Amino acid sequence: MAYYIKDELSKIPLETKCCKLAEMSALIKSEGSLHLMGENGLALHTESENPAVARLIIYLAKELFSRTPELRIERLPRLRHHNCYYLYFKQEDGVAEILRELGILDRYNRPKLGIPKRILSRKCCKSAYLRGMFLGCGFLGDMNRNKHLEFTLGDEEMARGVMWLLDELGIHAALAQRRSFYIVYLKRKESIIDLLARMGAHSTVLDIENALIIKSIKGEVNRRVNCETANLRRVARAAQEQIRDILAIDEALGIDALIPSLKSVAQARLRYPDLSIEELGKRMDPPISKSATYHRLVRLSRMARHL
Ligand SMILES: [Zn+2]
Repeated sequence: MAYYIKDELSKIPLETKCCKLAEMSALIKSEGSLHLMGENGLALHTESENPAVARLIIYLAKELFSRTPELRIERLPRLRHHNCYYLYFKQEDGVAEILRELGILDRYNRPKLGIPKRILSRKCCKSAYLRGMFLGCGFLGDMNRNKHLEFTLGDEEMARGVMWLLDELGIHAALAQRRSFYIVYLKRKESIIDLLARMGAHSTVLDIENALIIKSIKGEVNRRVNCETANLRRVARAAQEQIRDILAIDEALGIDALIPSLKSVAQARLRYPDLSIEELGKRMDPPISKSATYHRLVRLSRMARHL
């Protein structure tokens, strides 16, 4: 599911420059690494396993900075021979300027910690930044089994920033440490769906909701079938006991020795072993009520016990 959701998220048309900047900033922060090239020179490369994400970075670089990074594709055994997409921004592309504008470097070209709050003042940009982060380092579990969405972040400052952004959008998340990573995660179905919708993954949200509805309908059907099966079993067990008692009476006294009201019920039970007590009463001539049938069967059982 995570693969499809990333495909969907990477194809959302971005209208405004503010959101494009926010999303690019998050993508570079989560997928990029910086390389020092001699004195004050900087190169940047990004690494992605998802072609749609690489395509998005190329698109945004062109839109925002009129730059086209160089693309290299490698097949990696560690990714079960899936492709890895590398994008290279060279020093001549003005990497330092780009990174300053994205709020990743300060004006002295020093890396800034955490998220660039300066470019994230609007709600639309907060959502766009989270979308970029999710594309870079997000994971969505199978919503039918284990409801789980997480961001894997390299440092605590970033993790706190992502928590802050989620909080600003009214979404509750938790923070955990796993080896050297910081994990911001969501466990509640409502929060996950809320975040997916905010990021714009509307068809994924619909898929999840449909799957959950189908799952709950299946559960309800199973519950009813189980309940009915249990009822049928109870009816069958009771009928078996009644038949056993009637046969015992027949062996000891003979059914003909019974008074007519009991004899007719005994005969009906033997003829219709599968019917419920109510149905059995309806088959009598003349028909009798469920409680009358029940009381006659109880009398037969009591008789059988005293034989
Ligand atoms: Zn915006």
